[in-house]
Amino acid sequence: MPVEQLQNYIGGRFVRSSSREILGVENPGTGETIARVPLSTPDEVDRAVAAANEAFPDWSATPVARRCELLFKLADRIRDEAENLARLVTTENGKSLPDSRAEVKRALENTEVACGMPVLQQGDKLVGAAAEIDGEVIRVPLGAFGMIAPFNFPMMVPFWFFPYALATGNTYVVKPSEQVPLSMGRVAELVHEVGFPPGVFNLVHGDRVAAERLTEHPGLEGISFVGTSRVGRLVAMKCVETGKRFQALGSAKNHLVAMPDAKMEPMIRNMVTSCYGCAGQRCMASSAIVAVGEANYRQICERFVEASKEVIVADPLDPAVADEPMVMGPVISAKARRFILDMIQRGIDEGATLALDGREEGSGRQKGHFLGPTVFTDVKPGMKIHQTEIFGPVVVILKADSLDGAIRIVNEHEYGNGASVYTQNGHYARRFKLETLCGMIGVNVGIPAPVAPLPFGGMKTSLLADIKAQGRAVIDFYTDRRIVTERYWPEE
Ligand code: NAD
Repeated sequence: MPVEQLQNYIGGRFVRSSSREILGVENPGTGETIARVPLSTPDEVDRAVAAANEAFPDWSATPVARRCELLFKLADRIRDEAENLARLVTTENGKSLPDSRAEVKRALENTEVACGMPVLQQGDKLVGAAAEIDGEVIRVPLGAFGMIAPFNFPMMVPFWFFPYALATGNTYVVKPSEQVPLSMGRVAELVHEVGFPPGVFNLVHGDRVAAERLTEHPGLEGISFVGTSRVGRLVAMKCVETGKRFQALGSAKNHLVAMPDAKMEPMIRNMVTSCYGCAGQRCMASSAIVAVGEANYRQICERFVEASKEVIVADPLDPAVADEPMVMGPVISAKARRFILDMIQRGIDEGATLALDGREEGSGRQKGHFLGPTVFTDVKPGMKIHQTEIFGPVVVILKADSLDGAIRIVNEHEYGNGASVYTQNGHYARRFKLETLCGMIGVNVGIPAPVAPLPFGGMKTSLLADIKAQGRAVIDFYTDRRIVTERYWPEE
């Protein structure tokens, strides 16, 4: 069967890229090529940015209620299509269907929150700031914005940004990850169907060439980037050079701290979901467990390894497992799998104990990029397997002698995206919330990913900007808070 070549969506039309560089898009569970994605040229990015700028004057002057009416329609279409969209996410990314359904739901929730813009975008007024003078803060849209997306949440991540940008009166150009371009391609069709004016939302497929053109483009007011910290830093520097606003959400190594008083069995189940969901490729997945106390450490090592063996490793679209809650699909690519295998070897060479070896799980299969749950114990904080974001189903277990020691391990790590503590003790939990240098904190919650109305983002090198994603936070990014000082002289 011929494989479809994806199109860009520019100025309200689906257009075929003129690029000669075309990549196959792979279903990582089967190795099958499911589409072809063009690596668009800088000229094509320029056309999308021009379309977004052309659309801006009328769109920003459109009443906010009308802008939100279209977003309500988009939300309705996403709700109608939710199951198809979830299957598309699973087909191109390999995560389980329950995980993909949750992803689509979060995209929908962000659209719904953005529909509250008539309230959220209101400014402030200080009557009588000085004699006969009023001070006022109004939020004004800025122009065209761009977004560069990662592979691990093909649909949800762009929704942390673009519904808010559109609702506030800005226009948009999104570049999905070249590894998973299908879900956002379908979203572009839904945007078109509900009738957003041409140029308000544009989509350009491509790789770093298209992304770099967006980042340096003088016609964009700002860029939202989500991906590795290494690329995020490059994007941030280029945005500073070219005078743009930027948001850059980067890599992670999220810790779960287990106090001796934690409820063992629910904690272990919760840890398994956190570590192996999306094959360990969630930015909020945990991949490091810190057990406080010797006896607690020994018990957690034993129970966690046992529970890890129960994870079902399979193609998530196999009807026999499609609705199982703890199915672990493949990692995204052969390249990612090779990197993970290298890191496992590194852990062995560093002297950590390989308590559960998932390497065999994948090697016996003909197709797909599978690995089984892998657990290292006796891990020390300086080891590479603790320092590196492995982004696969590999978990390291460390020991600390106290809560202070555990917090120190988390705080000395380069990344500060998320961290959770398991305890029934409010004093421990309070200290953890206040003292841990991570942007998102959980208490007895293994994946402390905030819901759509709350800000999403980490600290340290996990966040290379001040402004976080989602909800109210991102409204600051997409609007200028213009301050007006106003006086009228009385009539004679
Ligand atoms: P990546 O950095 O390899 O790619 C991300 C995007 O950047 C892609 O669209 C890619 O085409 C583009 N890109 C590549 N090189 C570029 C360059 N030189 N300049 C500009 N853009 C370039 O990331 P990935 O592997 O797709 O995603 C996984 C990473 O994303 C992990 O590190 C994960 O932790 C992170 N992530 C973080 C969050 C968060 O909230 N902090 C959320 C999701 C994913």
